[in-house]
Amino acid sequence: TLTIADFDPVLWDAMRKETRRQEDHVELIASENYASPMVMAAQGSVLTNKYAEGYPGKRYYGGCEYVDIAEQLAMDRALELFGAEHANVQAHSGSQANQAVYLSVLQPGDKIMGMSLAHGGHLTHGAKVNVSGKLFQVAAYGVRAEDGRIDYDAMAEQAERERPKMIVAGASAYSRVIDFARIGEIARSIGAYLLVDMAHIAGLVATGLHPSPVPHADFVTTTTHKTLRGPRGGLILCREQYGKKVNSLIFPGLQGGPLMHVIAAKAVAFREALRPEFKSYQQQVIHNAQTLSKVLAGRGYGAVSGGTDNHLFLLNLGEKVTGKEAEEALGQANITVNKNAVPFDIRPRRLPAASGLVRRPLPREVLARPKCIAWATALRMSWMRAAMLRSLSGSVQIWRPSAISSRCTAEYSCIVRS
Ligand code: PLP
Repeated sequence: TLTIADFDPVLWDAMRKETRRQEDHVELIASENYASPMVMAAQGSVLTNKYAEGYPGKRYYGGCEYVDIAEQLAMDRALELFGAEHANVQAHSGSQANQAVYLSVLQPGDKIMGMSLAHGGHLTHGAKVNVSGKLFQVAAYGVRAEDGRIDYDAMAEQAERERPKMIVAGASAYSRVIDFARIGEIARSIGAYLLVDMAHIAGLVATGLHPSPVPHADFVTTTTHKTLRGPRGGLILCREQYGKKVNSLIFPGLQGGPLMHVIAAKAVAFREALRPEFKSYQQQVIHNAQTLSKVLAGRGYGAVSGGTDNHLFLLNLGEKVTGKEAEEALGQANITVNKNAVPFDIRPRRLPAASGLVRRPLPREVLARPKCIAWATALRMSWMRAAMLRSLSGSVQIWRPSAISSRCTAEYSCIVRS
């Protein structure tokens, strides 16, 4: 049989180089992860050939008896993992999961209250450029200037004043525990629905390392590919009473046929997440993020809110360097991060001041030798460029990810388990 390498060498070359890049670089983008070979095998399986519009047992196509098993497994495991009443595993993405929830109980013109994009919220929580900001009125809440944390009292006052029909909790760039119980109280006090988008922290929630939103929220959405470490996709959990509505919003409301290969990969990922090892992995992720943020703070690069309780943090680079420059400089040192706005950013949006979301657990040998951590010093570009050159010639002790990745091939997380 023809391989991609034979059939399409240009594409194959790009794929090979990307594989290499993922091995050679320390990938610190908080929304990314390394799916297991089993997850990828399911995703690259013959299930991609199958159309299965509808839901298990109620399909619009014949021949669905086996994909029904796959989808039922994914749903059952999602419910077991998060203790929810109803699961929809068909959402193609986190964005579509959120859209389905909005449209299941809201009308265009209704008001939602979500975390401002500039303070760590996600586009789909009401940003002007997103359909959520076009269809709905939006009241955005944020963090306190003094400590970078959500001010729940201010949020309660704002909710009372704005009277949104739905409060959206959850974030893309917030490093502290979110008090879902308190937000649940606020939502109930004004008769609003509560949607928690736990996309970033789903792996921590699954293992009890972040309080679960499920008891407090009407709807919980997540992506399956961030800390949860599954295939790229979405998941909706909700109370039983909203199950039918949410299902019909996903199909036929927003999507056509479900991606059965991705759903099978979600089933694998949920099974992985139910195993005890997954908890040690998540504990290590938090430990690594906290260690790295402390080391960087010690070198004058403080994180927004002063540190992290989860898998990520944002460095507030202030006047030192722009996020864009830091992203590029670190990229040259084989460390991949993403620039991001920080709350109360003083720079134009094109040049966010912050960078440095930590997702991937760093190998213990790196953390044990702070000298090896290139980050803080690397942020000063000219120094870093010089250091990189010297590191290539071996004369300074700067950490070279390529040297590490040869020792930690499959997953850093495995070798750094405590
Ligand atoms: N929700 C949050 C909090 C996110 O951080 C993201 C992605 O980064 C999404 C939703 C959107 O997920 P997707 O890219 O799968 O649409």
